[in-house]
Amino acid sequence: MSFEGKVALITGASSGIGADAAIHLAKLGASVSIVGRNEIRLNAVAEKIKNSGSPVPLTIVADVTKDAERIVDETIKHFGKLDVLVNNAGIVGQDNVTTFDMPEFDRIFNTNVRSVITLSKLCVPHLEKTRGNIVNVSSIAGLKAVPNVLSYCMSKAALDQFTKCSALDLAPKHIRVNSINPGIIKTPIFKTVGLTEEVAEKMFDEYKSKYPLGRVGEVSDTSSAIAYFADEKSASFLTGILLTVDGGFMLA
Ligand code: NAD
Repeated sequence: MSFEGKVALITGASSGIGADAAIHLAKLGASVSIVGRNEIRLNAVAEKIKNSGSPVPLTIVADVTKDAERIVDETIKHFGKLDVLVNNAGIVGQDNVTTFDMPEFDRIFNTNVRSVITLSKLCVPHLEKTRGNIVNVSSIAGLKAVPNVLSYCMSKAALDQFTKCSALDLAPKHIRVNSINPGIIKTPIFKTVGLTEEVAEKMFDEYKSKYPLGRVGEVSDTSSAIAYFADEKSASFLTGILLTVDGGFMLA
């Protein structure tokens, strides 16, 4: 698989799944435009990419809920085109029907849904020129109910419908739209809902027995699935697919 000569824009690339996907696509030859809010962490990812001998990345310190236009403009100005958009930036929150709070719902939907629609819309004219594609990072939480993460589950379910409907709408333009729906992947996201590293590690360990393949996921698992969909050769006839990357969890 080679992404030589291709340009990929990856959101939420300063951490976890997005950071590793950017490093992986760059290793495969892509010029990557990496977006994150934390400049120090984003620069650390850029350094890793440069040090591995991959094409020099473009870093864009930006918030996907506010800066979509600037993100796309800077990418096109710098690289001149776009082949792949990876909508990865996402946040999780804890709520249920009795604790539900509309500002928190809006915060989650603004990041996980509205920004994805806005960015995708802005990228369509560029992806049309390259017959490119979009990979959305959803979750198994879009496919099954999970207690106490109501707004997050709803946001990922909405994202999944966005993937399927936009795949249909953009097929005449030869733009493919697919989604990966990971199970538990070891990333810093669990810290954002207050879990210490120790508690998160304990949870990963406890979940091993619930995953048929005997482990929870690593970021390398999601990166290879993202690259698979992004590659015009491997996935040329695939669009509107929601691919669970969960070691068989949804089957068990
Ligand atoms: P993470 O917290 O390590 O990374 C998320 C990244 O998105 C961070 O860099 C964060 O700064 C960025 N981000 C969040 N809001 C942003 C905004 N408004 N503007 C710009 N960047 C923003 O988490 P992760 O686990 O790597 O999550 C990445 C994606 O994977 C998310 O969409 C998440 O819902 C999804 N996911 C994660 C898991 C898991 O177990 N880790 C499982 C299923 C789905």
